[in-house]
Amino acid sequence: MTRGRRKVRIAITGAGVSGICLAVKLKQAGIDDFVVYDRGKSVGGVWRENVYPGVSCDVPSRIYSFSFAPNPDWNSYFARGNEILSYLNSVVEMYGVGPHLRLGEEVVEARFTAGEWRVMTSRGEESRWDFLICATGLLVQPALPELEGRSAYRGVMMHSAQWESGVDTRGKRVAIIGTGATGTQMTCALAAETEHLYLFQRTAQWVFPKPAQRYTAIAKTLHRVVPGFSRLADRFWRVVFQGTISAAVVRAGWQRRLIAGVCRLSLRRVRSKELRRLLTPPDNPMCKRLVAASGFYRVVQQGNVTVIGEEIERITERGILTRDGVERETDVIVFATGFRADTFMRSMEIVGKSGRTLEDFWSDGPKAYRTVALPGFPNFFMLVGPNSPFSSESVMRIAETQSDYVLRWIELFKSGAVAEMSPTQEASDKFNELLRSGMPGTAFSSGCTSWYHDSQGGLMVWPWTVRMHHKMLSRIHLSHFDIRQCGESSKSGSGSERGS
Ligand code: NAP
Repeated sequence: MTRGRRKVRIAITGAGVSGICLAVKLKQAGIDDFVVYDRGKSVGGVWRENVYPGVSCDVPSRIYSFSFAPNPDWNSYFARGNEILSYLNSVVEMYGVGPHLRLGEEVVEARFTAGEWRVMTSRGEESRWDFLICATGLLVQPALPELEGRSAYRGVMMHSAQWESGVDTRGKRVAIIGTGATGTQMTCALAAETEHLYLFQRTAQWVFPKPAQRYTAIAKTLHRVVPGFSRLADRFWRVVFQGTISAAVVRAGWQRRLIAGVCRLSLRRVRSKELRRLLTPPDNPMCKRLVAASGFYRVVQQGNVTVIGEEIERITERGILTRDGVERETDVIVFATGFRADTFMRSMEIVGKSGRTLEDFWSDGPKAYRTVALPGFPNFFMLVGPNSPFSSESVMRIAETQSDYVLRWIELFKSGAVAEMSPTQEASDKFNELLRSGMPGTAFSSGCTSWYHDSQGGLMVWPWTVRMHHKMLSRIHLSHFDIRQCGESSKSGSGSERGS
């Protein structure tokens, strides 16, 4: 085995939360030969793309930040989108990530050939890297329903993730299609200013009343100047969040009963029996991602808001026609219809060892080894990949756990101990079997459909505690990996065949 310090070249795709996280960690580890590609003109991922009115986070701001970059200046208990975007920009600046960014440059193809990744970008440039890390996010590809008549509509029509900044909804008739986190937040934000707001609901969702409190100037000062105060506050929110929501989604117990009870009680604020019945979900709280919003049930009782449970027949020139034959005229239609989460990074052509494409590898749904790696795709890792605990943890902290794991492999590569690594098919299959066996008993498996399911109906969530995720990635299990040591030739196909 050849040993010695080696240089390492790393390509990261995606300059959102997780890409920024890994970039900072590489800088901290003294690794400088890396780039971060992003098709957008600026950093921020979902927080750059989602600028619809009311966009905010449903994870407490104190834990929706990196542990290495605490933010004493959060304005609210639950931060707004623009605040999070500013935070991410400040992290990029603070840690000197800027010179590594390749913005406006989309990776279109990545191919593992002769022991390295060849990356092709939308600018037609090709470059070579030792590692390829996909940090392209989960909620990226807007899901637009196939509704007849869309091209005939004369008003403004857009998906929530493609909000046009010039659109003025004041005094207008606005239709929102979809009652997930986005549709609910947008309803709360727009109801006060629109002439009329029509909320088209296919399936009612449970809404948890999110506290709308803001941090006072005194609290911000305390966070900034009192040693340990910020850490203590973060710890408090962590214990509360993980002790309640995170626990409730994965196992039955008082936490699940408590959250379900709060949701049911909150719904009782709707005075009209008919409206309450319409807003009562057919499934259990937390089966779909729990919607957290401030004041939703108050807002839907306003005179200028109508919730429509009737199925949409088609879009007309003037508005929306429902199956009962009623046409509602609108000036603006917003599709808050979510995302195709199971596509992950499949907008790129990713080709592993032996020429196997990711598209083929995931033909029956996205699966990974411990959320981060794939058999047959050497020196390739994902951040916030399949089954990451995004339903019960701040994505910033998930990205940190996964980045630390990836760094361990990068350090091994640098030390000269390994040249190529990818999990064995056997280790990956065993992990996925274990995942499946963990699903019964979680709130997600109680009978509903949502973006938590892939196109084959499999659940893409994490069925255990956040601590378990952390534990599983706290060290490298060499026996789970096909490894080529330095000096050995790169045998085509060996990565995917051993252990299969
Ligand atoms: P979503 O949760 O997938 O909700 C999509 C909504 O559109 C559902 O109500 C769905 O109804 C409806 N829909 C889909 N197709 C439809 C059709 N053809 N006709 C009528 N209705 C249709 O999407 P989202 O609200 O954009 O949220 C996605 C995720 O983003 C959330 O779960 C959350 O994780 C994240 N998010 C987070 C925040 C935050 O606070 N951090 C904010 C926004 C979003 P069905 O239920 O019947 O399918």
